[in-house]
Amino acid sequence: MSSYIKDLIAEVKAKNPAEPEFHQAVEEVAESLSLVFEKHPEYRAAKILERIIEPERVITFRVPWVDEQGEVNINKGYRIEMNSAIGPYKGGLRFHPSVNLGILKFLAFEQVFKNSLTTLPMGGGKGGSDFDPKGKSDLKIMRFCQAFMSELYRHIGPNTDVPAGDIGVGGREIGYLFGQYKKLRNEFTGVLTGKGLNWGGSLIRPEATGYGAVYFAAEMLGTRKETLEGKVCLVSGSGNVAQYTVEKLISLGAKVVTLSDSNGYIYDEEGINNEKLEFVMELKNVRRGRIKEYVEKYKNAIYTQIDPKADSNPLWNHKAQCAFPSATQNEINGKDAQNLIKNGVYVVSEGANMPTTLDGVKIFLDKKILYGPGKAANAGGVAVSGLEMTQNSMRLPWNREEVDSRLQMIMKDIHSTCVHMADRFGTPGNYVNGANIGGFLKVADAMMDQGVV
Ligand code: NAP
Repeated sequence: MSSYIKDLIAEVKAKNPAEPEFHQAVEEVAESLSLVFEKHPEYRAAKILERIIEPERVITFRVPWVDEQGEVNINKGYRIEMNSAIGPYKGGLRFHPSVNLGILKFLAFEQVFKNSLTTLPMGGGKGGSDFDPKGKSDLKIMRFCQAFMSELYRHIGPNTDVPAGDIGVGGREIGYLFGQYKKLRNEFTGVLTGKGLNWGGSLIRPEATGYGAVYFAAEMLGTRKETLEGKVCLVSGSGNVAQYTVEKLISLGAKVVTLSDSNGYIYDEEGINNEKLEFVMELKNVRRGRIKEYVEKYKNAIYTQIDPKADSNPLWNHKAQCAFPSATQNEINGKDAQNLIKNGVYVVSEGANMPTTLDGVKIFLDKKILYGPGKAANAGGVAVSGLEMTQNSMRLPWNREEVDSRLQMIMKDIHSTCVHMADRFGTPGNYVNGANIGGFLKVADAMMDQGVV
């Protein structure tokens, strides 16, 4: 690592204390970019990376709301407007008790590179709240969403900042948020993506992140003239990304044997078929239950509770060829990465954002497996959000086939950008360098063109 990059990382840590996830995301990108700065000192002279690291704007606000018992509740609300060099800020909202400034800054930072890779004109942003929607009534969710939007509405707009969903924010929450925005602004616009189909949403948006992660894995396997057919796959999470990852894997003839939530995971050696997936979707999206119930219905499957303090996650310790981490950040540590490799996994396509720690990433890169980092592999979600914005601007919806074929094309393009950039900068097969460099160059050139702003 060059002394320039070392100093830069040290400064980021000093200036942004207690934000370990943000430090981790910056460190990974900065290491890849040292290859660029050797060849292009002009970016370094213009302090492009230093500028990308500093959000253009950070908004934090109070979200007071009253529940049906008349009790007053107060949550923290955030929106990080990270970079608008190539388009309006774009990125999801996360509602989860773990949400804090550092987590949202890491997500917004990743989003800048991811959005650039999609080939669509979108800047990077992220937001959310420490509100926990788990187990809450629809009325509480609605009141919270309305209170959240009562402040956020003044900062966003279809040409300024277009939020979407993320952990804890699905179709229901987007609906309540959109309703409140429309009421306050008296305007029907494409200010949020992930909308319902009959009020401006796009077909394939719910499926896009999961499908995209599978398309990306298929592209990586294609470089070895292999397909997903017959491959055994480990999937974590059981939310939006996990569900549609499983759906696409089943349709391509792969066998998925795991799913999880924050309490534990199920292992189904026979494989999760369409009927079982339908059960999971109803369990998670309608009844909002726990994944444990899977083994009450399918007796041959095994449920294991996850101990968050353990040094590894047993979900990643089963024989398989492919892994699709689709729950949350840092869910694969160094030991998990070693277990994956020991059990035969040689394809990792990240549906979640930064699910692998720096130690884990190093192991995947050293072993030269097909490792697709989140900012490339899960870019399908924001890509279809971009397509939703296009359809909203034209006021013309596309059919399922049209959106899906565009998604496939975008994932192919992202894959070839990664391969090309990794080759060009002397690290063939390194998708981490490929994604970081490919995402960076487009944003950096736009920033050079637009002056110091
Ligand atoms: P989601 O529908 O809310 O599902 C999240 C899943 O992950 C749930 O099964 C949840 O379990 C589990 N989970 C959350 N926090 C966890 C933790 N600390 N430990 C273990 N499990 C945890 O969210 P999602 O949209 O699928 O998002 C999953 C990941 O994909 C996130 O990293 C997100 O940033 C990323 N991503 C999402 C999109 C998108 O379009 N939605 C796009 C790109 C990337 P519980 O029910 O127990 O909480």
